[in-house]
Amino acid sequence: MAISEEESKKIKEHLLGQLSQFPEDKREQITKEINSMTNEQIENFVKENNLTHLGENECIFCSIVSGQNPSYKIAEDNKNLAILELNPLSKGHTLIVPKDHSQEIDKKSNFVEIVQKKLEERLGTKEFQKNNLKIMDHQILELIPIYGNEKERHPATKKELEEIQEEILRQQIVPSELDGSMPSAPEKIIQKLKPRIP
Ligand SMILES: [Zn+2]
Repeated sequence: MAISEEESKKIKEHLLGQLSQFPEDKREQITKEINSMTNEQIENFVKENNLTHLGENECIFCSIVSGQNPSYKIAEDNKNLAILELNPLSKGHTLIVPKDHSQEIDKKSNFVEIVQKKLEERLGTKEFQKNNLKIMDHQILELIPIYGNEKERHPATKKELEEIQEEILRQQIVPSELDGSMPSAPEKIIQKLKPRIP
């Protein structure tokens, strides 16, 4: 497969996003090596290594959708996934990824609106720049929050991404949803259960 400049950039970003899997004293060296790789080297790297779990015809976004590669998920429905960009232009820079590789973003679906609303509520975003991208043949919608003070694009640290993810996802669970997946609110469960105990 021949990869484009944009694909090569995405693969680099993706690899940099996996740095936490390497020992801390090796990360700086690995970052330098990844950043200095040419398109051809990236291409060979993807072919020869199993690091990204990419099969012959598999794309990075499909491997994120299938959970083989980690991502910072902020929303999901049965057709789409919303993940944080690893190399954000602004806080909450998000990629909307259809789960089906050949699927276009469903214009009738309100998923994009839901994600936008969430970013507005949680991060105070008022405006978005939206870009339709096609990376490794996978259709992506990029949502870039505009705050009016954008800085240079920079690779976000794991901590930054985790904090933004937490901010966006916090208090999503309403106490009535008693499905056992609420480790963060044990008091609420107890309060909710009490009246049922005679
Ligand atoms: Zn794909």
